[in-house]
Amino acid sequence: MPLTHIFDTHSHYDDPKFDPDRYELIASLFSRGISGIVHAATDLDSTRFGLEISRKFEKYYAAAGIHPDSAERTCEDDLYEVRALAKSSKKVVAIGEIGLDYHYEGFDRGAQTDIFRKQIDIANELGLPVIVHCRDAVGDCLQILREKRPKGVMHCFSGSWESARELLGLGFYIGFTGALTFKNAKKAVEVAQKMPLDRLVLETDCPYMAPEPFRGRRSDSSMILMTAARAAEIRGIDPDDLAAAAEQNAKRLFGIDG
Ligand SMILES: [Zn+2]
Repeated sequence: MPLTHIFDTHSHYDDPKFDPDRYELIASLFSRGISGIVHAATDLDSTRFGLEISRKFEKYYAAAGIHPDSAERTCEDDLYEVRALAKSSKKVVAIGEIGLDYHYEGFDRGAQTDIFRKQIDIANELGLPVIVHCRDAVGDCLQILREKRPKGVMHCFSGSWESARELLGLGFYIGFTGALTFKNAKKAVEVAQKMPLDRLVLETDCPYMAPEPFRGRRSDSSMILMTAARAAEIRGIDPDDLAAAAEQNAKRLFGIDG
């Protein structure tokens, strides 16, 4: 199936799961007409890898940032490097993924909130949106966003309608992965139904979060077709119209022309 109007706002093509066929796979996605792919960086090496891929493919865009899982290992020099890498290429369209992740035991909340705040400052200074990862930390996340007011997207949204409404009020976009197709995705379904269409974007978070019927397998950007179909079903509109709207939203969010 052609991938016209499919825009993947969040991918991890630097993941080792793509080592066997990374460039062939990305080339095939673009030959099928995919509109764009954004590389969500997780650390400095991942940022550099995304920049390298973005030099090979016109519509592959990079982001610069350090994921909360790496916050404790991050120093001021690393943040300086995030800023330098973000400024190094016009293909860098966001700072991310950044945020808070309180899911696992033993994390350092202070380090996470500190690194999150400082990276939002970089985004605001450079006029870039942020790609936010927020897991089991919605209260702290919203508080920091309210205070710093970056533009951006909440990725892989699975929170309540109440927190979605707050994010929308802050001007945020909301990203849905293949998890929207899962049977237990009740809260995400409610948000996808109630939110304004002009703030909805689609993503894979590949190689993770493959939609039904591929759940558990390595995902890639072509599988957004299933997520788009599910979102369209939830909203009672045509899948092509939904994909086209999400594509336009993504381009507006990341400042991409055309
Ligand atoms: Zn991610």
